[in-house]
Amino acid sequence: MVASLWTAGCGGSGSTSAPEPLLPARVTVPDAASQAEAQARAVTPAATTVPLPTTTAPPPSPHADRIPTFAAPPSPPARKVALAAGPAAHLSRIATADPVAFITIDDGYVRHPDALALIRDSQVPVSLFLISSVAAQDPKYFSDIREQTGAVIQAHSVTHARLRGQSHEAQRREICGSADQLQQLFGTRPTLFRAPGGLQDATTRQVAAECGMRAVMFWKEAVNDGRVQFQEGNRIQPGDVILMHFRSTFVEDYLAALRAIKDAGLTPARLEDYL
Ligand SMILES: [Zn+2]
Repeated sequence: MVASLWTAGCGGSGSTSAPEPLLPARVTVPDAASQAEAQARAVTPAATTVPLPTTTAPPPSPHADRIPTFAAPPSPPARKVALAAGPAAHLSRIATADPVAFITIDDGYVRHPDALALIRDSQVPVSLFLISSVAAQDPKYFSDIREQTGAVIQAHSVTHARLRGQSHEAQRREICGSADQLQQLFGTRPTLFRAPGGLQDATTRQVAAECGMRAVMFWKEAVNDGRVQFQEGNRIQPGDVILMHFRSTFVEDYLAALRAIKDAGLTPARLEDYL
């Protein structure tokens, strides 16, 4: 009773009745014993003639009622950021007057089952900086997010090795190697790179450019355990890049990032639209 009263009380979310879970049709081949058992029954179960629906709206995120709403980001952006030739730029904030901020999600070790629906229902274009060897363990998880939310997949090394201070060749293996592997996995070559731990040097920026990366991304805010940590002040500024991770705390981290963007009077936008 409590549950149905609660459901009746929160109109407007479009979920007047929860859809029945659709189970795949199952064909069983009976063995001798169960054949005898089936003969003993008066009614033979129906064969697999019930057609499955070809298109089904995905179920909404269980956290949909906690997602803030935003004004649409400027489209197109006021102007793209000009990037100089030579080594890739190292950026933690995009120089723009647009009231926007950018959510970036790193690594990929922990693949929370609610992430896809949460990102999709928030209608926010996020950028995923994936460790390519980790993405290779479950490419469908990330391609589903990309296809259903408009996320862009970017590079975050092959093995998450520390790059700062490493040789040109070692950094090349990690940076070009991850771009190559992600291109193989997802069909699109990354254009942005984030160094593991954010630890980069001049060689990183040089190699990133050689590997076709337009910028090496750092961040202004990081989200941990459901809290936004600011490097400057206590408010997200226009153009800020926000870092979070694929972790067990994904839902709280993602919602905290959205709330902080909302509190700053900004709207989430696609990083790649500005670079
Ligand atoms: Zn990382």
